[in-house]
Amino acid sequence: MKPAICEKHGIQNFVVTSSDFFLAIDEGKIPGPIDACKIKTSAFERISENFVSRHFFQRFFKDSEISEVHLIDREKNLKKMNDRLLIRKIFSDSDLKYVCPACLHQFLKNSN
Ligand SMILES: [Zn+2]
Repeated sequence: MKPAICEKHGIQNFVVTSSDFFLAIDEGKIPGPIDACKIKTSAFERISENFVSRHFFQRFFKDSEISEVHLIDREKNLKKMNDRLLIRKIFSDSDLKYVCPACLHQFLKNSN
């Protein structure tokens, strides 16, 4: 998350989404029914949720039946890596873009 200014919603904590969703939101297009997948991440007691297109999601999770995953970051005290490497790989992907959370929410709502 990073604070940025949305033309419609003012200062928001922008979140990442896949670039196809970003472009549709940016162009103000409602592409009809969309297939959104949820990536939930737990890191040090903090849980965050990111929504991406199935196209993006399936690059990391091949099983087409699932549309939601819960990834756990490493537990330092237990010296367990858990899903840390996968989390890093997903969130450093160049196909992710920052988007206003209110615009994303509207986009997801309008296209269902
Ligand atoms: Zn907005």
